[in-house]
Amino acid sequence: MKVVKVDIDTATPLDPEASILIIYTGGTVGMVFDKVEKHLVPFNFSQILDHVPEISQFDYLLTVMSIEPAIDSSNVAMADWLMLAALIEENYGQYDGFVILHGTDTMAYSASALSFLLENLQKPVIFTGAQVPIGRLRTDARENLITALQIAATKQNGKSMVPEVCIYFRNLLLRGNRAKKVESSHFDAFKSDNYPPLAETGIDIEYSYEDILPHPVHSLRVHKQMSDKVAILKLFPGITQAVVQSILQAPGLQGIVLETFGSGNAPSTPWFLDLLQDALDRGVHILNVSQCDEGRVIQGQYETSTHLLQMGVIGGADITTEAAITKLMFVLGQGLDHEQTQTQLCQNLRGEITL
Ligand code: ASP
Repeated sequence: MKVVKVDIDTATPLDPEASILIIYTGGTVGMVFDKVEKHLVPFNFSQILDHVPEISQFDYLLTVMSIEPAIDSSNVAMADWLMLAALIEENYGQYDGFVILHGTDTMAYSASALSFLLENLQKPVIFTGAQVPIGRLRTDARENLITALQIAATKQNGKSMVPEVCIYFRNLLLRGNRAKKVESSHFDAFKSDNYPPLAETGIDIEYSYEDILPHPVHSLRVHKQMSDKVAILKLFPGITQAVVQSILQAPGLQGIVLETFGSGNAPSTPWFLDLLQDALDRGVHILNVSQCDEGRVIQGQYETSTHLLQMGVIGGADITTEAAITKLMFVLGQGLDHEQTQTQLCQNLRGEITL
């Protein structure tokens, strides 16, 4: 993998209003139609002004860093998140904000992961992408990119307006670790059911000031480790003992997200409870997340979740699966003892959960 860097100055002869680092990782957003080959090929971001000439109306200093080869986001892995966090750390002092162009398929996972890795973030890190490639006439990439740049550059009283990892898509600015991809054909690909948008765009960009995280008092701390000893176990009526066993007894497993029904309910069948208990006894952390998009896990509300509570399964409240699995990876990567790990998993670390 290599990083190709291009600087674009849209400000001269004026003083730049802001400096933004755009990191292009891949995905539909960066594709153009090759008329000879008759298929989509990754586009060279050094020619961004040819495709989005409106950008020259900004008075910004832009740097575009393209990851080569571009990654379809279905291939994104933990190493890519650590690399993105490291790129932001290296360049943190030079830029007012960061825009990450990323495939939509796993954008919510990447935005969640980055939110945990970047502790005490004071500057915006805005993920965006597109449903229709930048090289197509009806592309949504142009609007998404232009508005993401504008949000990344916006300040209030000398401080960044949104000191968070976010996803900007269509007309919504969402907290990254609250977002989910919900749509693969229409333009409004993301939503955040359990937390309001941080901004909505129409003629103006309307910020929901009270929903944006406050500026941290400490300086940025970039975490360098995550654990891949995790799994997601999605329950369904009729799930067999063999399937549950194969996941809970995976070698080296340290944590699982248990995707339960409704408000956190799971079968009370003895074999199921025995397998959970055995995993807990081996020190595996279990985070209970609901399959419902809205609402929250309330362990103890029904008999079918009371046993989970009694066993020591952690209730995930209103967290998304994307945020839960990346939170597990992050917390388990910190090398804390069992108690401290449980405590961190129960806490609201980056606005990902309403307690
Ligand atoms: N498969 C693409 C990706 O996630 C889809 C997209 O960008 O929307 O990389």
